[in-house]
Amino acid sequence: MKKRVLIVDKSDEFVRVLQEAEKCDYEIAYAKNGEEALAKLTSFHPNLVITGLMVPGMDGIEIVRRVRAHPQTAKSGIILVSYQPLIQVYHAAIEQGANYFQERPCPDEKIRDLAQRWFDGVLKPDPFHHPSYADLEGEHCYVPRIHTPDHYIRFWGTRGSSPVAGSEYVRYGGNSPCLEVRSGDDLIIIDAGTGIRPLGEQLARQGIRHVHLFLGHTHWDHIIGFPFFAPLYNENCKIDIWAPVGYEKSVRELFVEMLTYTYFPVRLEDIRAKITFHELRDSQTVEIGRLRIHAHYAFHPGSTLCFKVETGKTTFGYVTDNEVLLGFHGHPNAVEPDDPRLDPHRSLIQFLQNVDILVHEAQYDSFEYLDKVGWGHSSISNAAVLVKYCEPKEWIVTHHDPRHTDKDLHEKREVHSDVLADCKVSCYVRMAFDGFMLPI
Ligand SMILES: [Zn+2]
Ligand SMILES: [Zn+2]
Repeated sequence: MKKRVLIVDKSDEFVRVLQEAEKCDYEIAYAKNGEEALAKLTSFHPNLVITGLMVPGMDGIEIVRRVRAHPQTAKSGIILVSYQPLIQVYHAAIEQGANYFQERPCPDEKIRDLAQRWFDGVLKPDPFHHPSYADLEGEHCYVPRIHTPDHYIRFWGTRGSSPVAGSEYVRYGGNSPCLEVRSGDDLIIIDAGTGIRPLGEQLARQGIRHVHLFLGHTHWDHIIGFPFFAPLYNENCKIDIWAPVGYEKSVRELFVEMLTYTYFPVRLEDIRAKITFHELRDSQTVEIGRLRIHAHYAFHPGSTLCFKVETGKTTFGYVTDNEVLLGFHGHPNAVEPDDPRLDPHRSLIQFLQNVDILVHEAQYDSFEYLDKVGWGHSSISNAAVLVKYCEPKEWIVTHHDPRHTDKDLHEKREVHSDVLADCKVSCYVRMAFDGFMLPI
């Protein structure tokens, strides 16, 4: 009498394997899913069941259980074959009554041998052995390279007006403005808010000896980190400071005043690095290596400039403090292209036209702006009007209000998107955060 073998598997490869056995005296049935397997237990009464683990409709462990529970097959042999050579699968199979656990893929000969051993009455489960996974050493182990792009902007401080700290500011950070711009070996820094302190430590570690620092204006939030900028205390460092001609004082006078014993234990004249001050004016362009930095007036109290930087590959605008549409609280779509309310901003719009990335503030929501007209910062909807007419590919929002927590800023991003959608502007908007690095 032929030995009846039931193969339960998604594939019928074991049917062929057994048929090709040297002296095949098997009668073979095949079930491609759990339902067919149960039917075959009753109609076929196999002496041996070879089942896969991931059988469609019923996993192999349940098949084992059903074979053992069926009166016609309770004593039949069961071999579970699995692509998961895991100890949990092994124990489940053996505990439920399988006679053997076989890892797959395996040579055809192995399956034939196991079947033969069952019918010879000598099949016993081998103890579980951990498989030898691929050799993890040397070139066989793929380790993805983490690389820092050579051309990027990195936000070291994104908080406007005042730095903040605390558990509500963990996501976006609390440092006041500072931006690192790198294009290969060319480096500039814009703003010396508290974010410049950790940047300075990084530059010191990297052995950078020459930096160009650009300041759009000298309100506290943009200069307060300067005395803590590590390269100042290295006599081998050279620092060029580019800042607007102030209404009241020159930049040099301002720094002399800031670095007196009244405010700080080190005076400007005691600083070891070689500092050179440069006056910066509207419409001026400065070239630092391959970087071209253009300056333009911003709408903000005091003498304030904003920047457009060309890297050769990318152009971006950096406008941290700019009040768009002074005192306007209406719908952004009410501001038509020829609206006289745009007149104070036309030159800036032209200056920023079609930049790839526009970094621009939007410090207040509509209700906050009701009380903050003339403070030098924009409502979200008024900033959106500027974005609409500048047509950047991407808008990055920075100079976050110190009262806005992580939750507020998360929700605010949605408001920005909604306002842009209302204006039918297809521009990707993101909120900057401390540490945000963007390849350019
Ligand atoms: Zn500011
Ligand atoms: Zn300011």
